[in-house]
Amino acid sequence: MHCKHTNADLQLTSMRFNQISSSARDTLALFAGVITVIAAALIAPSAWAQNSDLSACMAELRPAARTAKVTDATWARHTAGLQADFSVIEKLNFQPEFRTAIWDYMAALVDDERVADGAARLNEQRAALARAEQRFGVDAATVVAVWGVESNFGQTFGKYPLVQALGTLSCHGRRQSYFRGEFFAALRILQAGHIAPERLVGSWAGAFGHTQFMPSTFERLAVDFDGDGRADLMDSSVDALGSTANFLARAGWQSGLPWGIEVKLPAGLSLAGEGRRTKRPVADWAARGVRRIDGSALPDSLGSVGLLTLAGAKGPAFLVTRNFDALYSYNAAESYGLAIAHLSDRLRGAGPFATPWPTDDPGLSRAERRELQGLLVMRGHDIGPVDGMLGDKSRVAIRTEQQRLGHEADGRGGQKILKALRGG
Ligand code: CA
Repeated sequence: MHCKHTNADLQLTSMRFNQISSSARDTLALFAGVITVIAAALIAPSAWAQNSDLSACMAELRPAARTAKVTDATWARHTAGLQADFSVIEKLNFQPEFRTAIWDYMAALVDDERVADGAARLNEQRAALARAEQRFGVDAATVVAVWGVESNFGQTFGKYPLVQALGTLSCHGRRQSYFRGEFFAALRILQAGHIAPERLVGSWAGAFGHTQFMPSTFERLAVDFDGDGRADLMDSSVDALGSTANFLARAGWQSGLPWGIEVKLPAGLSLAGEGRRTKRPVADWAARGVRRIDGSALPDSLGSVGLLTLAGAKGPAFLVTRNFDALYSYNAAESYGLAIAHLSDRLRGAGPFATPWPTDDPGLSRAERRELQGLLVMRGHDIGPVDGMLGDKSRVAIRTEQQRLGHEADGRGGQKILKALRGG
C-alpha cells in the first residue's frame, strides 16, 4: 500500500494509499457540487508537538532500519540531528472543508493550457517516448498525460525534504508503520546514489519527482531510461517517462487497447451495480441499448468493459477497459483515471467530452482561475498570489463577492461568478 499526496497544482488534499492506494483523490469523494463543512476533528497540539527532536525515535528505529538494509553509514548521515516537521502531521490530519466537484477537478486538470504543454512535450520527448512504447507497450500520449497530471510535466514536485517528512511521519501521527517502510525506502534510494540528498524533496507524504512515486514504488518500478546508471525521477524526464511506462505495463496495460470511449446511454438504463469493475462483453452493452456517443454501434474491439459514470446518468458516461484500471491504479481514484484518460485523448486530437457535466455552473480552467483571481484583486481582496489555485483566501473573497451579488455564497469559483465579475 502506498500513500501519496495529490498533485499540488490542484489543492486537493488527501492521501494516496495507492499505486494500490487511496489518494487525495481517493478521499476526495467527488460528490458533485456538494460542499461539506466537516467538523474539523482537529488534533490539538499535544506534548510531543513541543519537541521536534527525533533522536529518541530514531534510536528505536535503528534496528528495523538495519534489517531493512539501511547501512549504519547511511543512517548516521541522514538521521543525525533530524528534526520533526509537524506541518506534515497537520497535513495528515487535515479534513478538507471543501470537496471538489468532478467538473471543477476536470476543468483544471484537463484544460487547453495542459493540452498545449503536453503537445510540446510529446514533440520534445518523441525519441524517449518511442523507446518507451517499444519497450513497455504504452503509447506516448498516455505516458505524457500521466506526467501532466502528476507533476504538470515536471513543474510541480512538492517542497518537503523527504527524509524529514517521512522521518516525522514514522515517529508521529497515524500510520507510522506504513511511513517507516517508506522512510527506509527513501534512505535506500539515497544509499544507492540514485538521487542527491538535497534533491530528494516532494509531497508531505513522500511522493516525489516527475512521476510522484512513493519511495517503495520507486524501488519497484523506477528505471534508468537515459542510461547514466541512475534512476533519477527528480532531474531526468527521460527516466521519468520510462518509469511511468513501466508502471503502467506492470499494472496490466494492454498495448493497442483504448482506455475506453464516451457513450450514450438509453433512457432508463439502471446504473445499479454497474461500475468500472463490473466488466461485461461489449455485445451485452449493445443489447442494452448503449451506443457510441455519435449514435453508432459500439466497437467489438474493446472486449470486456465496465460502465463509468462519475456524475450520474445525466453526466458523461464511459465504457472502460482494463487499461482504465491501469490508469486507476496509479492513484486509486476514478476521477484521477478519467483526467489522465481524457488528457491522453486530447493529446491525440480529440475534443472535450460530448456530454456536458450536469451543472449550470461549469468549472474553470487554470487560465480562468487566474482571471478570476485578478478580478478579485482588482476589487481589493487579498487572495495571495494569482496562481490559478483557488485556496482558502480566494474562497473567502469569492464568498464575499457572491454575497454582494446575491449568489449562493458557497465560495466556489465557477463560470457564474467569473462572468458576474467580468461584467463589473
Ligand atoms: Ca538515468
